[in-house]
Amino acid sequence: MIGLVAVTAAGRAAAARLAAAWPDETRSYDGPAASALPAAFGEADAVVAFLAVGATVRLLAPLLGSKHADPGVVCVDEALRFAVPVTGAHAGGANDLARRVTAVLGGEPVITTASDSTGTVALDDFGADLGFTVEPGSDLAAVGTAILSGQRVTLSTEMTWPLPPLPPNVVPGGPEPGVPAIVVTDRLTPARPGPTVIYRPPSLVVGLGASRGVPASEISALIDQVLGSAGLSPRSVRAAATADLKADEEGLVAAVRERGWPLVTFSAHDLAGVPVPHPSETVRRAVGTPSVAEAAALLAAGQADHRSAHHPDRQAAHHLVVPKHASAHATVAIARRPPRGRLAIVGIGPGARDLLTPRAARELRRARVVVGLDQYLRQVEDLLRPGTTVRPSGLGQEQERAAAAVADAAEGHAVALIGSGDAGVYAMGSPALETAGAAIDVVGVPGVTAALAAAAVLGAPLGHDHAMISLSDLHTAWEAIECRVTAAAAADLVVCFYNPASRERDWQLRKALAILAGRRPPGTPVGWVRDATRPGQSSGTATLASFDPAVVDMRTLVIVGSSRTTLVAGRMVTPRDYRWAAPP
Ligand code: SAH
Repeated sequence: MIGLVAVTAAGRAAAARLAAAWPDETRSYDGPAASALPAAFGEADAVVAFLAVGATVRLLAPLLGSKHADPGVVCVDEALRFAVPVTGAHAGGANDLARRVTAVLGGEPVITTASDSTGTVALDDFGADLGFTVEPGSDLAAVGTAILSGQRVTLSTEMTWPLPPLPPNVVPGGPEPGVPAIVVTDRLTPARPGPTVIYRPPSLVVGLGASRGVPASEISALIDQVLGSAGLSPRSVRAAATADLKADEEGLVAAVRERGWPLVTFSAHDLAGVPVPHPSETVRRAVGTPSVAEAAALLAAGQADHRSAHHPDRQAAHHLVVPKHASAHATVAIARRPPRGRLAIVGIGPGARDLLTPRAARELRRARVVVGLDQYLRQVEDLLRPGTTVRPSGLGQEQERAAAAVADAAEGHAVALIGSGDAGVYAMGSPALETAGAAIDVVGVPGVTAALAAAAVLGAPLGHDHAMISLSDLHTAWEAIECRVTAAAAADLVVCFYNPASRERDWQLRKALAILAGRRPPGTPVGWVRDATRPGQSSGTATLASFDPAVVDMRTLVIVGSSRTTLVAGRMVTPRDYRWAAPP
């Protein structure tokens, strides 16, 4: 919940705009700032204060805790020119909130945290969205300063995690004497020779079995002993797992709760289906599965890995790192869950920077590898973090490009596959997902597709039912295209033509327009927009009778109205009401 604090008329008006823009997300704190601001700070997840930074600091100073726990507070000036994150820039989300505020109210976010202004990652947040935690005692300040000052820093990770990029002075490799190091590991590590930040990834699952009445202390001691002798960090344990039957076993539940681990349970039937190294006939007779600890650890580690036989992980599959160990009344086994790669399919919009969504910008900065057509990559270059690997490609290499992106993600990387407009509309989204297996996570970010950008230029041509048809016969037989144009003509749909022409494709648009002209009046409006929202945008309208397709090239989108579409003051308008008059 975002608390809104405003004390002036202008502030209250702006607060009302935020409340309207973010329904159900905000709450207004009324009354004088001296009471409203502390109340909001105490209750809300984040605060937008229409107050001076100085006044805000004075009121909040006695309440400040730590940068990890304080809510993000953003101050907005009276003229709405600036949104200034004052506390909780990273963990409290104030930097992001400032960007959201300016997206609604206009003005500029004033970001003062060093890592953001230089475009690199904040170390205290690194991997946070993957569940990484920073090992206490880590030297965040020294390593962070080393990164910012361009010093050589090593990064070692045992597995490939879909992490955002670090700047080029952070080089892969094990720690070297005196060189600041970042280490991602679930293993207990010996003291390092130089300043070090250790991240604990959530890679381990502890499988537990117990007989009735097991004391919590016995299970706890066994867990410690097993983790310790295997050299594994308890901070990397993401969950404990056992059989449904043990979900109310008090000692077990208490030992797990004490550590703050979630407990997942499985039916004996599901556990019995897991091949394990140490099945036990005695256990099978007692609980209906030959293994509890090993099978539960493996099942929980493999969950969400619905991997398909045709697309095996490049990374090692989940596996037992420690087989079953037993004490008098308990068993413990530990499985490791390998990371899943992340493929974002990101539409960058039709051209204009302010039509690239904030979410697309965030995904571009989240990716370590960005794949796309070189002309689109150039458009977004400035948004990428230093250290991002860019894989450009030329026109006509769609399949290779998609395969490259999927391959990088299958290796565990965070990859963004970009496309203009929406990356799923006549673009790379489908070839990528045709080959992507279940072992990677896929995130789709919609973009403003050319039809919408062009429609906005032309007026309101899409006010009623419409179709998108690509005239490219590269992947589609012309007969199929013609068949769809004919059907759209019969259904009296407004039609948006993508790929209407190219150097080799010179007769298709004429033919398609002729088919439409057979079923709608000669006065039906036709609109075209070239380079919509890009520099040099041009556009025009005509009628089916007067339109000259020679103005159209591959950077143009053509919209043909339905029989009901009209030109009003030069703008294409398709009315919302539709009185069906069977088309001619
Ligand atoms: N994924 C893209 C479409 C790719 S197909 C999207 O969602 O917009 C390429 C065709 O889209 C071009 O031939 C042209 O017809 C159209 N197009 C893309 N961007 C355009 C723009 N800015 N202005 C006009 N047409 C555009």
